[in-house]
Amino acid sequence: MSRIGVFICHCGENIGATVDCIKVTELAANMEGVAYAVDYKYMCSDPGQTLIKNAIKEYDLDGVVVGACSPRMHEPTFRRACAEAALNPYLCEIANIREHCSWVHDKGEATTRKAVDIVRSLVEKVKRNRPLNPIQVPITKKALVIGGGIAGIQASLDIANCGYQVILIEKDPSIGGHMSQLSETFPTLDCSQCILTPRMVEVAQHPNITLYTYAELESLEGFIGNFKASIRLKAKSIDEKLCTGCGLCTTKCPTKKIPSEFNAGLGMRTAIYVPFPQAVPNKPVIDRVHCTHFRTGRCGVCEKVCPTGAIRFDQEDRIISENVGAIVVTTGFNVLNTDFFPEYGYGKYKDIITGIQFERLASASGPTLGEIRRPSDGKIPQKIVFVACAGSRDPAKGIPYCSKICCMYTAKHAMLYQHKVHNGESYVFYMDIRAGGKNYEEFVRRAIEEDGVNYIRGRVARIYEKNGKLIVKGVDTLLGASPVEIEADMVVLATAGVANKGAEDLAQKMHISYDPYQFFAEAHPKLKPVETNTAGIFLAGACQAPKDIPETVGMASGAAVKVASLFSQANLVREPMIAVVNRTAPPLFSTCVGCFMCQTACPYQAIEREEIKDRTGKVLKTVAKVNPGLCQGCGTCVAFCRSKSIDIQGYSNEQVYAEVMALLNN
Ligand code: SF4
Ligand code: SF4
Ligand code: SF4
Ligand code: SF4
Repeated sequence: MSRIGVFICHCGENIGATVDCIKVTELAANMEGVAYAVDYKYMCSDPGQTLIKNAIKEYDLDGVVVGACSPRMHEPTFRRACAEAALNPYLCEIANIREHCSWVHDKGEATTRKAVDIVRSLVEKVKRNRPLNPIQVPITKKALVIGGGIAGIQASLDIANCGYQVILIEKDPSIGGHMSQLSETFPTLDCSQCILTPRMVEVAQHPNITLYTYAELESLEGFIGNFKASIRLKAKSIDEKLCTGCGLCTTKCPTKKIPSEFNAGLGMRTAIYVPFPQAVPNKPVIDRVHCTHFRTGRCGVCEKVCPTGAIRFDQEDRIISENVGAIVVTTGFNVLNTDFFPEYGYGKYKDIITGIQFERLASASGPTLGEIRRPSDGKIPQKIVFVACAGSRDPAKGIPYCSKICCMYTAKHAMLYQHKVHNGESYVFYMDIRAGGKNYEEFVRRAIEEDGVNYIRGRVARIYEKNGKLIVKGVDTLLGASPVEIEADMVVLATAGVANKGAEDLAQKMHISYDPYQFFAEAHPKLKPVETNTAGIFLAGACQAPKDIPETVGMASGAAVKVASLFSQANLVREPMIAVVNRTAPPLFSTCVGCFMCQTACPYQAIEREEIKDRTGKVLKTVAKVNPGLCQGCGTCVAFCRSKSIDIQGYSNEQVYAEVMALLNN
């Protein structure tokens, strides 16, 4: 390349007041290979771009260096101008003489010399540039949503309503997630199921959504636009096509004493069961761990009573494969294992329950049909203590973070209790009240001022039983840390929100990052909150961190928009600055020796193996090959390759050395 044009921008006073732009232009004009050099006040302006376009044609330029601001600012502008003048845009380079020079130095000879050096190094680089073309990656316009809670439901509906196919998988027998277990939702006290169940039905009936419940991601391969997901459909032990959901099997099954997961252990279920009456799909599964037939080979009652012959004891797990272009992970959260705080006596005393158990007691569909009754004797508690931050904000328990929802749901619980037990007394132990959200602060105020909930600022140290009462011992820090002791009939622990069991495994299957608490990590906390560091995989809801329903729904719609905008393109167009492994003439074919150090180093699993065969199909050599859909151009592999067989297009070893040598040899 020997006909390079250099265009020096004054950027008004930004460069021009510090750097002698005319001198830089004169010296650039004499650099080897430079055919034309000119300066201009605002090179990014319309006349500035026209100047570049005309010069390319008039001087038959085969390379362009623009001495201007950071390439982050106007590289696309100048590359577009070159393309309009029929010069490959990747033959244009930006010499940053503003951020790297005029903005960080005083006016003077040395500053101008530095600007000249920067321009010279880019001239040397552009001489070695090759025309490149953006990479076109085809997109499979079908999304996989993992997790059927409110986040997964919202994301699925939003994507499906944009006209794209969605595969929604849920590990439990029904969609609905934690939201289906809630009684009312703060701050409006809407009935949770009333607002959720219509959406669950909509998902099941949507022509663009394929729902697989009792299903888990087995493995994931591929890259943005072209993922291949293997999904395990766990054996439900029924033929869903034959089952009418009549429920006869669940009423006749003799195993009646299995703690119901849906009722958080406060109710019982049978071995063949539908998790809750509004479940979607409303068909049973057999829990093989507790089923007598699977344990002993006897029973078989469900098979005898089923009017449609739908029971299938011999059914096996099936693995299906789905090609998808994008994935939304919405696997939600869990609540902290109560073994974490033996000092609170959970598990030892029946009337110490968790927040989610309280939800089931308060829910009209719960085991007490919405009446707040003690699990021990079914009596209505007259005095109840709520303990906020049970596990949260406690580095000693390994959870230094705030679970974010506990202050609000505790206020809601206390309020619901006061609404249901008019003469009851309720106390809330709290550390701080964090009620950041629309109408949240007002909601907590209402609990205190209108419903008479007693708030005590302090931690609970211990809970134990004495004379049939639960003694809650703590301190009131607003009264100078004076000790407080309350004799309660029932205690509700607002247990911390933690990552789901298996989150780490799932993250590893999908090659996405997670934080020290196993919550999935977003690509950028402010600017890319729904993206992961793996292109094409998005996050929504509490799998990223504890969050409430409005925030979860907002995030799910955000992730859905990202998927829809990806699918709206004919092809995925990517910058060509990716790694390539060289190819040479036979018999060498490539200088790659097949050590695959690059493969172990690549953080994006972008390096594959390629067999080079002769005409008979005999393998002559196995070499590395870069998958252009996966490569992010990070350059890690280049540093690992001892035979220098990999280069980043546009940033080859040769180009970078040339830039450095231009500075050193000056
Ligand atoms: Fe229940 Fe299993 Fe007997 Fe069926 S075979 S009725 S699921 S215990
Ligand atoms: Fe389905 Fe048969 Fe059970 Fe009825 S009895 S819910 S048809 S499996
Ligand atoms: Fe080939 Fe270099 Fe990768 Fe080794 S590190 S496999 S030589 S490209
Ligand atoms: Fe992997 Fe980075 Fe090399 Fe691309 S440039 S193949 S992402 S190591």
